[in-house]
Amino acid sequence: MQKQVVKSYSERNFESVIDKCAGCERIVEESGVQFCKTYMQPEAKWRNGICNFATHAKPEISVVTVRVNPLKAAKRASAKGKK
Ligand code: SF4
Repeated sequence: MQKQVVKSYSERNFESVIDKCAGCERIVEESGVQFCKTYMQPEAKWRNGICNFATHAKPEISVVTVRVNPLKAAKRASAKGKK
């Protein structure tokens, strides 16, 4: 079944938000319908992953800590300096 898209947000043809927008602080309500005040087509913002304007969802950033052997690092540093 095709989801019905409501357009308006004060006649600027904004499209209504989608389920994934729930909880975002950029949502404004007009006549009982929720719109995004930042983006006209919320569905398009979520097509390729998380919406970059979303205030309720952030992409997970994994920080990889690399262990460095201090002795090897010192050797490498001194070898560079010898040139
Ligand atoms: S900023 Fe993104 S997540 Fe928030 S309401 Fe707009 S489209 Fe939805």
